[in-house]
Amino acid sequence: MNIREICKGADRIGISGHVRPDGDCVGSCLGLFLYLKKLFPKKEVKVFLEEPAHIFSCIKGFDNIVILGEETPAEAPFDVFFAMDSRMDRLGAAEALFKEAKKTVNIDHHISNARGCGDHNYIFPEASSTSELVYELVEEEMLDADIAAALYIGIVHDTGVFRYSCTAPKTLMAAAKLIGTGIDFPRLVEETFFEKTYVQNQIMGRALLESILIMDGRCVVSHIDKRTMDFYQVTSKDMEGIVSQIKLTKGTDCAVFMYEVKSLEYKVSLRTTEKVNAARVAELFGGGGHARAAGCMMNGTFHDVINNLTVHIEEQLEDGRA
Ligand code: AMP
Ligand code: MN
Repeated sequence: MNIREICKGADRIGISGHVRPDGDCVGSCLGLFLYLKKLFPKKEVKVFLEEPAHIFSCIKGFDNIVILGEETPAEAPFDVFFAMDSRMDRLGAAEALFKEAKKTVNIDHHISNARGCGDHNYIFPEASSTSELVYELVEEEMLDADIAAALYIGIVHDTGVFRYSCTAPKTLMAAAKLIGTGIDFPRLVEETFFEKTYVQNQIMGRALLESILIMDGRCVVSHIDKRTMDFYQVTSKDMEGIVSQIKLTKGTDCAVFMYEVKSLEYKVSLRTTEKVNAARVAELFGGGGHARAAGCMMNGTFHDVINNLTVHIEEQLEDGRA
C-alpha cells in the first residue's frame, strides 16, 4: 500500500482509531498524522479520538487531536479517511465520518478484523502493533524523530516493552530504526508505560488484593465497580496495565479484569497463555482483539459476567486446543 499515492489528489484527510484509545492507537494515529503533514504540508489533516490519557501529550500533534464525544462532529465528507488499529464499528463517533468519506483506508493488526473495512486495507494480524505497520508504510527518508517517537510509543505499548509473543525480529528492526532518529526512548517508555499516578497504583492494588483464583488456579479474575472508581476518582484511562499485572500470577493461563463503565455494564479485558485463545472468547460477546489479549463489553453483575466467560475459557482449557 502506498499512502502518498492514495492521498495524492485529496484536499481533506481524516484519521481516527478505536474508542478508549490505547498507546498503539494514539501512536499510530499521530505517527500517520505527522507523516501526512510532512508529505503534504498544504493539505488539511484532522485526527479524531476519544480523549487519550494525558501521558501521550509528549507526542507531537497531541494538541491537534479533535476530541470525540458521543456526537459525530459536523464535518463535510473527507476525501480520504483512515481507520487505525480498529474495525469500523469501534470508531465510536467517528464511524459516520469514515462511512461518508470518498475513499477509506483501514490499517490494523487485530485478528478479529482480518478482512478490513476500507477501500484500501493493510491488515496484518501477526504484526506487533498498528504502529509497526505505519512504520512499514513511511518512506525511509521521511522518518524523523517526531514520527519515530509516536510509533515507538505505539510499539512499546502493544508489545509490553518487547516482552509479548507478538514481538518479531522485524519489530525489533523497526525499533532499531526508530531509536536511530535520536529519540529519548528510555524517557518515553518510563513516562508513558511504567510510571503510574498515586491513584493508579492504589486502584491496581485494590484489583490485585481482591483477585480470585478459579478453575484450580488456572484462571485469575478481578473487578472494580463504579463506586470504587468514584471513591479513588479514577476513570477508564487509569485502568491500563492492571490486567497485565494480574496475569503475572504464577500458574494461570487466563486473567480476566473488568471494570464497570455504567451500572451493570463492564469493560472486560482478557490476557492468556497459548492454552486459551482470548480473541475467540471475546468475539463470542461482540468484542475482539488478539490470541493472547482481547476485550469486550458485557452486561450483568460481576458473577454473571464471570459465569458467562468461564464456560468458554474452561472449554478451551479442557480441549487443550486454543
Ligand atoms: P484491552 O483489554 O482493552 O487492553 O484490549 C486488548 C486488545 O483487544 C487490544 O488490542 C484491543 O484493541 C482489543 N479489544 C479490546 N476490546 C475490543 C472490542 N470490543 N472489539 C475488538 N477488539 C477489542
Ligand atoms: Mn494495537
